[in-house]
Amino acid sequence: MDSVNGIHGTIPTPLMIYEMLEDRFGFQGWWPGRNNFEILVGAMLTQQTSWKNVDMALLNLRKGGLLSLDALAGADLHELEIMIKPSGYYRQKAARLKAVCNHIRDKHSTLRRFLNRDVQTLRVELLSLSGIGEETADSIILYAADKPVFVIDAYTKRMVERLFGIWENLKYDALQDYFQSKIVKDVGLYKDFHAQIVELGKRHCRAKPLCGNCPLFTVCRYGKFGWRPDR
Ligand code: SF4
Repeated sequence: MDSVNGIHGTIPTPLMIYEMLEDRFGFQGWWPGRNNFEILVGAMLTQQTSWKNVDMALLNLRKGGLLSLDALAGADLHELEIMIKPSGYYRQKAARLKAVCNHIRDKHSTLRRFLNRDVQTLRVELLSLSGIGEETADSIILYAADKPVFVIDAYTKRMVERLFGIWENLKYDALQDYFQSKIVKDVGLYKDFHAQIVELGKRHCRAKPLCGNCPLFTVCRYGKFGWRPDR
């Protein structure tokens, strides 16, 4: 027996879910990015767009020699906007990227010093910066700082809703606490678990789910038991 937000029933543990996903999709090896700075930039650019578009923006930044903290902090804003245009919302994202880089450089000198602090201190500071919400902050903490926080995104929320038969406003913190309280705090596991959930969301648990061949079908209320939010 287990529960999520008061919903009771026999449900798979997070570790079972991970193992079923990893068994099907294999180790994902996330996050795409050559170094911690690229991961931070990618995490900010990926808001409201696909990774394909972020990749194009990162390629432009790399070619333009702007993929370093100092270079991006001092970049010409208009030039930066043009380079990251493929990622969408480029004016807003360019201003925020530049501001974040200036903040890190002015307050901490290097990205390493900025990232090399305890999770709570780092998280509070990230969330104080314009354009960085919980998902982005936690992605940076997990993938760039290599510290164990469980990232919650729209795919995670949708998977939990359907697996456990919940159709209510699941809060970020509640979902994160749920996963973090059920699985050992292991950076590698957290990284790959999030990547597995994204893969599930892309291949099967879409807005219109493809349940037939889904690796979680046998334990999913929506898939196996026909649970629907509108019933
Ligand atoms: S069985 Fe269907 S609803 Fe359940 S996780 Fe898989 S795709 Fe999503």
